[in-house]
Amino acid sequence: MTYVSLDHRRVQTAVIGDKYSGDPVILPMDHHELDRWRKLHPDYTYWCGIQLGGCGGELSDRRYTDKVCHFAHHPNAVCHRTANGESSADHLFIKRGMERLLARQGLRGKVSTRDLGSGPGDAVDVFVPAVRRRVRFQLGALDYLAWRRAADEFAEDAAGADWVFAQDGPLTHELQYRQGYSLRVRLSTHGGERRVHIGVSAQGHPLQWTPLEECTLTPTGLLTPPLETVRLSQARHRAASFPVQGGLVFAPVPGSEVAEETPFDLGERHLIAAYVKPVDSPVVRALVSLPSDAGAPLAGHVYRVPDGARVLVADEDTAWVVTAERYIRLNAHEAQRTGLWSPSPAPTADCGRTALRPGGRIDLTTAASADDSSGSTAKAGTAADSEAQTGFAKRQTENRERRDRARDLISQLRPLEGALGEAVRKQVTRAINGAELWLAAVTNPRGDASNEGGRHVRQLELALRAARRDLKLDEHSTYSGTSAQAAQRKG
Ligand SMILES: [Zn+2]
Repeated sequence: MTYVSLDHRRVQTAVIGDKYSGDPVILPMDHHELDRWRKLHPDYTYWCGIQLGGCGGELSDRRYTDKVCHFAHHPNAVCHRTANGESSADHLFIKRGMERLLARQGLRGKVSTRDLGSGPGDAVDVFVPAVRRRVRFQLGALDYLAWRRAADEFAEDAAGADWVFAQDGPLTHELQYRQGYSLRVRLSTHGGERRVHIGVSAQGHPLQWTPLEECTLTPTGLLTPPLETVRLSQARHRAASFPVQGGLVFAPVPGSEVAEETPFDLGERHLIAAYVKPVDSPVVRALVSLPSDAGAPLAGHVYRVPDGARVLVADEDTAWVVTAERYIRLNAHEAQRTGLWSPSPAPTADCGRTALRPGGRIDLTTAASADDSSGSTAKAGTAADSEAQTGFAKRQTENRERRDRARDLISQLRPLEGALGEAVRKQVTRAINGAELWLAAVTNPRGDASNEGGRHVRQLELALRAARRDLKLDEHSTYSGTSAQAAQRKG
């Protein structure tokens, strides 16, 4: 068995026809393959092409049986071409592949190779005006600043750009953060050809390669079959964020409304305005994003985020949002020490009871005992609760519906709270507090078995009716209508 070492100092690639040609070829390294190649293409002439960064001289194909076949210059040629190896014509193979792809789809576009400082094989750019898309195949090294500059340039005439990298590195990770996936390119040798493959790399998915022939260029970009799946599963990209060291406390701003528009795609989360006090920092009014699987925090309470808080920042924008996954309601003593709350000058027994109970979300024991203690309203839930006994599955569904209903009612009540007369406000606060403690408890499987839900939904419905009566609102007003009128009445 003879060992044939791959001598990459030899010239392995050329262009066909003349020195200006963009028609690349890789010389088969094995002499049997070269024989077949020569028989198939007896008229080909090979050149150290200008588009390869070559000298433009004609090359001859050298057949060897004891080492790899390669191209050779004429004996007196002077050549300063730096890239001669197997991948040295990859930019031309990619260019040709993309030109064929556009032709197949009937798209008019421009495909060009780019010298970014180290040679004509640094990059390949594709621009298709009809769909306002760009594709950059980045074959040479690139840092963030250069990437950013190029991306900004692309944004001037394209609605979007796909970056396809030959190498894995910080930039592919950057794009994975930004868009949920990154694209890669690799070429494999088949006879005198280098075939182009597009890879999709995404969190939770193995790197998946697709021949370029099976890809399409769409108004949303270069698409491979695996990418369609990845895009569906990663509908949201991650915003940039900084961790908040040492935690923070916050108090929702009473009666404030949060604009729907933020530069962040927060998904199904609570977004509230709050006074936020990070450790060792003055208080700042900010938007706070919280998970939707617990009742939103209430005005008149102070909450602590012990860990995991982050500040989401928008790229090239001044917008920012505090985000937290876990928060604890502080008791009166702790709340007062934060400076964000003090006891009401006219305290009421009802509000005092539930207002500052500690650990509404995570202290389930406390939540459960609070429910137990509200015995005076227990009767209201009996009829509704008995309906839920017909089976576990049915009860699960009912619980879920009640939770949804309760959250909906709370979200309708909250904007009204600040504008209500004292008696009704107490009723509303009591209903919301009770329901929130219940909601916190039922996220725990043990708590889910309770049949408290019906009662809380009923209390919320009664509170909403009372609130609307108090504000003289039509029962059928829309949510935005009631909010607006409440704000009007208040202000
Ligand atoms: Zn040359």
